[in-house]
Amino acid sequence: MARVVVLGAGISGHTAVLHLRRSLGKNHEIVMVTPNSKWNWIPSNIWVGVGKMSAEQVTFPLAPIYKRKGIEFHQALGTSIHPEGDKDHVKGFVTIKYTSPEKAGQEAQLEYDYLINATGPKLNFAATEGLGPDGHTVSVCTAGHAIEAAEKFQEVIAKLKAGQKQRLVIGVGHGTCTCEGAAFEYTFNVEHELVQVGVRDLAEVIYLTNEYELGDFGVGGMSFAQRGFQTNSKLWTESLFLERGVKAILQSHVSKVEAGVIHYEQLDGVKRTLDFDFAMLLPPFRGADIKAFNKAGEEITSELFAPSGFMKVDANYTPKPYEEWKAEDWPTTYQVPAFPNIFAVGIAFAPPHQISKPLTSATGTLIAPSPPRTGMPSGVMGKTAALTIIDQIKRGVNGKVHGASMANMGAACVASAGAGFTNGSAAAMTMYPVVPDYEKYPGVGRSSKDTFGEIGLAGHWIKYMLHIMFIYKAKARPFWFLIPE
Ligand SMILES: Cc1cc2nc3c(=O)[nH]c(=O)nc-3n(C[C@H](O)[C@H](O)[C@H](O)COP(=O)(O)OP(=O)(O)OC[C@H]3O[C@@H](n4cnc5c(N)ncnc54)[C@H](O)[C@@H]3O)c2cc1C
Repeated sequence: MARVVVLGAGISGHTAVLHLRRSLGKNHEIVMVTPNSKWNWIPSNIWVGVGKMSAEQVTFPLAPIYKRKGIEFHQALGTSIHPEGDKDHVKGFVTIKYTSPEKAGQEAQLEYDYLINATGPKLNFAATEGLGPDGHTVSVCTAGHAIEAAEKFQEVIAKLKAGQKQRLVIGVGHGTCTCEGAAFEYTFNVEHELVQVGVRDLAEVIYLTNEYELGDFGVGGMSFAQRGFQTNSKLWTESLFLERGVKAILQSHVSKVEAGVIHYEQLDGVKRTLDFDFAMLLPPFRGADIKAFNKAGEEITSELFAPSGFMKVDANYTPKPYEEWKAEDWPTTYQVPAFPNIFAVGIAFAPPHQISKPLTSATGTLIAPSPPRTGMPSGVMGKTAALTIIDQIKRGVNGKVHGASMANMGAACVASAGAGFTNGSAAAMTMYPVVPDYEKYPGVGRSSKDTFGEIGLAGHWIKYMLHIMFIYKAKARPFWFLIPE
């Protein structure tokens, strides 16, 4: 009998437990520890944030699914990992703290044979003074945040209808943020809604980003072959901004937000301010606050985790300049080298470095998009770790160790530019590989055959279909496993 504990029921962790449960007999225990009672299809939070969907449409309760599947469920936060056990535990264990109303604050220790850390990002609003729902800006990172964003957006619409000019600033709230694609989507969904309700003329929409140029998206941009011509995501994105009358402020680090005023610095080192009536700025991400201890009870957090709080896995973390970055620096198995029965997948693993070229301002401020780990790679990593564990449980130490490096993996991303069955649009992009490999693909680092983009109404339909398909899959409905990650 083996016991697999997974921390975090997001895209990667939930994918992992479903595959583990499907392939391992009932004599093996699959345990999920996650703080929220509901699963959230985060990509559709964008639509909640403009009032096009309700929170119920993007979330569902996890407990009934886990009961049906025979997965042990603890609504709790993982707080510490003890990979060597301690005087009372021969095996590794995790300490958890319950968040469910009936057990809130109680602690427990769960032993494991295999552990997957899939705790995703900690939304680090604290990195920028005044950022976030407790400060002066809104967010769409959770369904709850998106509901609040939609309410504030409706207030702006009411003011526009009353003839008052409004400035809406959407983007990222720190020089090291990731997820620019989500900020881009929200920008164009907001702009689309303003047009739909007939108040676009009095609204100024500004995209505020840490990207060096439009279309970077934290992946260093993309080159596409389109209808026989070579183009790139910069040209493509710039033309969308022009067409929709959205202004962009690039190369920015937001240092502080006050009521109605954003303070930011650009690469030239000049500190500027921007007044706003509505601002949705994504926070930078950190790893979850999890500590690690050895058998003697001494803290070994820095051995397992990078200073960013993300878990160190089989990557090459040797610091080196951008010019020396290699595709093989990126992890393949997501195992922690000193403890191969521990895996970190999705946003929880520490990337070896950025993908876009990191830059510092004239005053030394880092303005460098962090590498995105979007839904598709996160799901693939969750499944990969699950397959390794399944093989090792079934075949012992000779079980196959599966791999899925982001330098050898493609990703498809459909970025909504406005919701609507007949008048919506989205930018559908695929890239291969996610992390450029300049040795294999000299010049742009990616396969021009497998990297392409298309924008239009069909993209919106695809995005909506993905919403339905991934919620179906996450609910583990019949044949869920046929839907790819
Ligand atoms: C607004 C927005 C829009 C996006 N749109 C897209 C899109 O269109 N396409 C796309 O591909 N990607 C999109 N993404 C990115 C996508 O959501 C992430 O790539 C994906 O969710 C990462 O999966 P994950 O499993 O690593 O983390 P998550 O899905 O965030 O899951 C992490 C889980 O761990 C839990 N957790 C946290 N701390 C602990 C702890 N201590 N113990 C136990 N559990 C813990 C969390 O509650 C959560 O359930 C978007 C992201 C945002 C914010």
